[in-house]
Amino acid sequence: MNIAISNNKFYIYDDAKLEKINEFNKDLEGVVENIPKKERLLKAKSMIMINGKDNTIIATYPIIRAQHFYPLSILDFAYAIKNVVCKKIPSLPILSLDSHDYNFCDFNCKDCLAVDTRNWAKKNLGFTNIKPDEYEKVLFKIAEYSKKRGCDSIRFEMSGEGNPDMYPYRSRIMKYAKEVCNMQLVYISSGSLLNDQLIDDLAKYASYVRISLPGVTEKAYDIYSNQKCVPSKKFTLEKALNNIKKIIERRSFYKRDGELVVGARTCMRPESEGGYLETARRLKDLGADSFQVVQILVPEGNNYKDYPISTNCKKELIELNKNSIGLMHIQTPAKLDYVYYDRGIEKESKPSECFSSMVAPILYGPHLIVCTHWEKIKDLKFHYGKIDDGVNEIEDIMQDERATKLRKEIPYSCSSCCSIFDNQIMTSIKAQLLLAKNPEDIEFLLTY
Ligand code: SF4
Ligand code: SF4
Repeated sequence: MNIAISNNKFYIYDDAKLEKINEFNKDLEGVVENIPKKERLLKAKSMIMINGKDNTIIATYPIIRAQHFYPLSILDFAYAIKNVVCKKIPSLPILSLDSHDYNFCDFNCKDCLAVDTRNWAKKNLGFTNIKPDEYEKVLFKIAEYSKKRGCDSIRFEMSGEGNPDMYPYRSRIMKYAKEVCNMQLVYISSGSLLNDQLIDDLAKYASYVRISLPGVTEKAYDIYSNQKCVPSKKFTLEKALNNIKKIIERRSFYKRDGELVVGARTCMRPESEGGYLETARRLKDLGADSFQVVQILVPEGNNYKDYPISTNCKKELIELNKNSIGLMHIQTPAKLDYVYYDRGIEKESKPSECFSSMVAPILYGPHLIVCTHWEKIKDLKFHYGKIDDGVNEIEDIMQDERATKLRKEIPYSCSSCCSIFDNQIMTSIKAQLLLAKNPEDIEFLLTY
């Protein structure tokens, strides 16, 4: 027997048809609403598309990257596509906004992808950071744009091109985004410069805080964060875990345990071997929810095949993936073959449309850009434009002839993609909706 839930209904199914169990078991009424949001969204295993008239299953989407969408879910994206197909909205809303608002960092990480783009942005856009008044106006306009298209609560990710802890107006912007724009905040940083005020604001306003760990042994942390200060001032793995602890304690103070996800992410490093399971255990003991281990992009000029994963590391990550430690969410690379990866895409694997450029563009200061691919960030051709007063209103830069043409050209012009999986899944959802006799009847559910 499998379980599937929508926003308020509980279903069971064992073949191609679902039964609504709320309908004949009154005890289950209200059950869905009472499951904490983070459990409901992070523990989902797949998504199914059903015909809501007869509850038959039309399609199954076996892999959903819950953590990627949280505090939204793939359901929000699927329903937005349905609304466009059913002509309820003229175009897709921005559902997720990734903001790169501050171009300075206290670390000097090896393989830092931001160094190059920071220099580019300074030279070509005159951008290093954004003033708070301008930032608020831009956020307000984006929120309005999405509200008109049915999304009144955008996922707003602050990840920086540097360390977001250092942006002096972070607290003001978080409060504004949450209270005025009704955005759901995601915060990604090393946590090295979190102060008490910022920890308090994150616990109060954020939906997801993810601390990036350059390594999961002290040795790896030191090598890859490459801090230039005197040893006694260096930020360490221990200090990062301590800040995670402080956020979790504050989260309980604000009684937000059920909705604020706190986690950590690290890239695979040879010197981290032996530290993955130990770090996961420590995170669990602190009360954290998630731990991600990822491959990172192959350094320029190198071949990812020159960096195979050691047998011991592979064993450790396979063990971690079983999640016997009991974290709410664990993510390890799909293929445990190489330390680095290359995001090149085969011609035949290209989706026909780039949904990311519509539902999840990036904000680089006041500039809207199609995606996080570094080649694209550094090419003005892929910039929708700068959002400002007057001529460059968001409605124009996202919907004018130039933007439409640009979106038609991608992804055909992209030889590699940073959102290939999301684009493929959204392409498939749209295709299924277009094939449906009556797309209005289509519903989407998460399964467990
Ligand atoms: S913390 Fe991020 S932005 Fe800073 S140096 Fe490291 S990778 Fe680059
Ligand atoms: S790289 Fe991928 S996400 Fe970026 S524009 Fe191309 S198809 Fe879209």
